[in-house]
Amino acid sequence: MSHATSGRVLIIGGAIMGSFSAWALRKAGYAGAITVVEQDPTYQFSSTALSAASIRTQFGTPANIEMSLYAARMFRDIRLVFGEDADIGFRERGYLILGGPDQVAERVAAAEMQRAHGADIEVLGPDELRERFPGIDFGDVRIGTFGARHEGWFDAWSLLSVVRRAARALAVDYVHATVTAFETEGAAVTGVRLSDGQSLGCDFCVLAAGAWSGRLVAALGIDLPVVPKKRTVFAFETPFRLNNFPMLFDTSGLWVRPEGDGYIGGIQPLPEHDADADGDFVPQHALLEETYWPLLATRIPAMEQLRLQRAWAGHYEVNTLDHNGVVGPHDELTNLIFATGFSGHGVMHAPAVGRAVAELIAYGEYRSIDLSALGWARIRTATPMVETIVY
Ligand SMILES: Cc1cc2nc3c(=O)[nH]c(=O)nc-3n(C[C@H](O)[C@H](O)[C@H](O)COP(=O)(O)OP(=O)(O)OC[C@H]3O[C@@H](n4cnc5c(N)ncnc54)[C@H](O)[C@@H]3O)c2cc1C
Repeated sequence: MSHATSGRVLIIGGAIMGSFSAWALRKAGYAGAITVVEQDPTYQFSSTALSAASIRTQFGTPANIEMSLYAARMFRDIRLVFGEDADIGFRERGYLILGGPDQVAERVAAAEMQRAHGADIEVLGPDELRERFPGIDFGDVRIGTFGARHEGWFDAWSLLSVVRRAARALAVDYVHATVTAFETEGAAVTGVRLSDGQSLGCDFCVLAAGAWSGRLVAALGIDLPVVPKKRTVFAFETPFRLNNFPMLFDTSGLWVRPEGDGYIGGIQPLPEHDADADGDFVPQHALLEETYWPLLATRIPAMEQLRLQRAWAGHYEVNTLDHNGVVGPHDELTNLIFATGFSGHGVMHAPAVGRAVAELIAYGEYRSIDLSALGWARIRTATPMVETIVY
């Protein structure tokens, strides 16, 4: 694609993907105007603000592992990158992913592949699991893989605040408006129309509109398979205490991790209860009673005593083709750059995606992590890049 160090970059969506793209572009030396258009400066419905803000390196695809490693190192050194008062509460406490008898071979192979790409994954058998994580019932478990470094959780709101502030300090302009339409000429997006009737011109347009992305570009005739799926998070207290409690992913599909003095957790709804969310942010309370709580109490009997504190729901921006992000230019509108579709792992991958978008615009190529595999070509040809470790 063509590249530039000046001109007008317009970014649709000012949450984690949009803000990291803007900031990284300046860091890459881009001297032109950078405008971020955000419809809601409170970010109350953004996936970023509603996420569980956890980071793992246990993925089935090298690009996802490398993006997580880049973010984990940045999070650890957050003060060096963004200044002394930058605090995102990074807790490097690991993901513990459990597997049953039929998953042992596949998990061992995945851990080897992850280690080969720089992750620090331990493979634990039932006895080691019982010793290290007392109080958890590993009866049916045959393997646990644990990320000893580069995995854990942080505060997504703080991360967004830190990067937005840094972007603003580098003369990135945030405009409060909704993008309602695109203007095009030949093979280029030349601008967007805003809800207040104004138009904004651009030389590059970055689509970082999260779960709204698919619908937004449908107006251009682009079939981007990114749809909003509702995911509920339960925050609760229990008397159960374990100092080294990690982010636990159970064989049942549930997840649970510490948060403050209590825990947060959730589980995906069954496909028949998982229609596109369409602006619906009402938590699925039935999931707690009928599914989550019984499964949790089976795995951790002391969690039978659970007191719900609150629940919230946000939207995963699910790429229905393969649950992976879409990054890079469209093939026909070549200055339209996607940075979306991360299907539940976008906060952890935003630093690397932002840098990738910046490299594409400023240099015309990827210079750090090659994210070509996440490009539009696979969407056009409906060739999934299968990520086996999806939650
Ligand atoms: C419950 C839940 C748990 C999650 N847990 C994790 C996790 O543990 N780890 C992880 O890495 N990820 C997690 N995710 C996923 C993660 O939150 C997303 O992948 C990530 O936040 C996507 O960032 P984004 O900037 O692309 O989208 P968003 O944060 O949704 O931001 C998109 C922005 O675009 C704006 N926008 C949309 N349309 C327009 C328009 N037309 N004009 C102007 N502005 C527009 C929106 O207002 C919004 O602010 C979770 C998500 C949910 C819902």
